[in-house]
Amino acid sequence: MPENAVKDQVFLNLKNYFGYDSFRVNQQDIVEAVLNKKDCLVIMPTGGGKSICFQLPALSFKGVTIVISPLIALMKDQVDGLNANGISASYFNSSQSSEEQHAIIENVIRAEIKLLYVAPESLAALQNILTEKYISCVAIDEAHCISSWGHDFRPSYQQLGFLKTTLPNTPFIALTATADKTTREDIVKQLRIDHAQIFISSFDRKNIGLEVRTANNRISQIVKFIKARPNQSGIIYCLSRKTTEQLSTKLKANSIPAEAYHAGLNFDKRSKVQESFIHDKTQIVCATVAFGMGIDKSNVRWVVHYNMPKNIEGYYQEIGRAGRDGLKSHALLFHSYADVIQLQNFASGASNEAVQIAKLDRMKQFSEATTCRRKILLSYFGELLGTNCGNCDVCKNPPQFFDGTIIAQKILSTVYHLKQQEAMGVIIDVLRGAQNATIISKGYQEVSTFGIGKDISWQHWQHFVIQLINQGFCEIAFHKHNALQLTDFSSKVLFKGAKVALTKPVAVTEVKPVVKEK
Ligand code: ADP
Ligand code: ZN
Repeated sequence: MPENAVKDQVFLNLKNYFGYDSFRVNQQDIVEAVLNKKDCLVIMPTGGGKSICFQLPALSFKGVTIVISPLIALMKDQVDGLNANGISASYFNSSQSSEEQHAIIENVIRAEIKLLYVAPESLAALQNILTEKYISCVAIDEAHCISSWGHDFRPSYQQLGFLKTTLPNTPFIALTATADKTTREDIVKQLRIDHAQIFISSFDRKNIGLEVRTANNRISQIVKFIKARPNQSGIIYCLSRKTTEQLSTKLKANSIPAEAYHAGLNFDKRSKVQESFIHDKTQIVCATVAFGMGIDKSNVRWVVHYNMPKNIEGYYQEIGRAGRDGLKSHALLFHSYADVIQLQNFASGASNEAVQIAKLDRMKQFSEATTCRRKILLSYFGELLGTNCGNCDVCKNPPQFFDGTIIAQKILSTVYHLKQQEAMGVIIDVLRGAQNATIISKGYQEVSTFGIGKDISWQHWQHFVIQLINQGFCEIAFHKHNALQLTDFSSKVLFKGAKVALTKPVAVTEVKPVVKEK
C-alpha cells in the first residue's frame, strides 16, 4: 500500500475500532515508527494511552503482534476489551489447559488473530511459532520490569533479551510509565534494541496539586482534609495492611465511610471494594499499593499518602490515579522520619539495596524540597520544567530565596574537577577541605576548589546540593555509586552566567514520634 493509503487506513481504524477522533501527543509518531518497522521505546505516564501504540499497528500487520505483559490478571480484561471492539485477540498463559493453548497456537499459524498477550514465563511454550513467518511485531508492556534499576524488577522479564536475536527484523515496541534515565538505558540494552527510537511524553499532570506535610497528628489532619471535600472520591495509600484497616476503622468512627483494601483480603472482598469504588458507592479506600493497578476511574479527586512511598516512580504512579478526567485534583503526602527509617530497613539486605536506598533518598529529597515540587518530580523523569508550576505547596507558599549562584558554581565546579566520579559526601568534604583518608589517598587536596567552602557547615552544603539536584543543575548516577553528574543546565551556570536561586537552610528540628500512631 502506498504510504498515504496506510495512513488513511490507520486513521480509519482509530475511529472504527477504538472510537477516537484524533491521536494524543506522540501516539501517531509511534504508530508510524512501528509500521515502518522501527524499534521503539515509549515512555508515557499511566493513562497516557500506550495501548493503541501497538494495538493500532497490529491491525495493519499481516502476522501476529505478541504482547508481553506481566500480569495474567489484567490480560483477560485487555483481550476482552479488544474482542468487544471487534479485534481478534487472545492470551496465552499457564492458567490455560494444553488444549486451549494448542488451539491458540493454531490460530497464530493460520494468522487468525492480530494480538496475542503472553506472560514472559510462557514464551518458552511458544518457541515453535516465534519466527518471523508468524510474528510481525513484539510489544513489551511494563518494560521497566526487565531492569533491576526499575522499581518493579521481575526475573521472568530477563529472558526477553533473546527475543530480538530470534526476531531480528521484527519491530519491537517497549512501553513503560515509570522509567528514570538509568532504567531507560537499561531497558534498551537488555532488550537489545540499541537503535530504538525513544518517545517520551510529558509526565506533567498540571491538574494535580501537590502538597507535603509533616506527619504529626496525621489522622486528625486527614479527617479535616476529607471533611473539607464532601462527596469526593479519594484513595489513601498506606504502607502496611494493618494500617489500611486501622485507618478505615478510625475514619468510620469519624463518620467517614472508608473501606480497606490490601492483598491479604480474599478475592471476593477485594473485588467488592474495587467495584463499589469504581461505581462511586464507596467514596474512600484506604489501601496498600496493591490497589489501583488497572483501575480506570476518571473522577478520583484526591490521593493521600499516609506513609511515604519507597520511590518517586511509585509516588508518581499512585498520585496519577487522581484527576484522570483532567479536573482539579489534589495529592497530599505525609512525611515522617519514622517512615524513612522503616523504608530503609525494608531496603537493607535486598539484592539491589544500593539502588533502593538511592531511590528512597530521592523520595526524601522531594519531601523536603524547598523548590517547586513539580520541577523535582519531572526532572526525575528527565523532563526539565522552565518555570515553577504554581500548583504545589512550595510555589503557593514559597520559602525565602537568595542568590546562590556562587555556591552553585563552587559545587558544580567541584563535581567537574572530580570528573563526575564522586558522590555528594566527597564533594562536600573537598569543599570544606576535609583531610580524611579518601581525600588524601585520591589526592583531592590538589583540586582547585579544595577548602573554599570552610565557612559553610556540612549540613548546609548538603541542603544546597540537594537543591541543585532538585532544580536539575546536577543529578545522581545510581549506577556509578551515586556519583554526582553534571547536566545540560550545569554549563549554563558554570560558563554562561546563569543565576541560581537557593533557599536559606532553616534550623532543622527533627520531630521525634513521641506518641506512636497505631
Ligand atoms: P496507559 O496504558 O498508558 O495507561 P491506556 O492505553 O489504557 O493508557 O489509555 C488510557 C485511556 O485513554 C483509556 O481510557 C483510553 O481509552 C484513552 N485513550 C487512549 N488514546 C486515546 C485517544 N487518542 N483519544 C481518546 N482517548 C484515548
Ligand atoms: Zn510548584
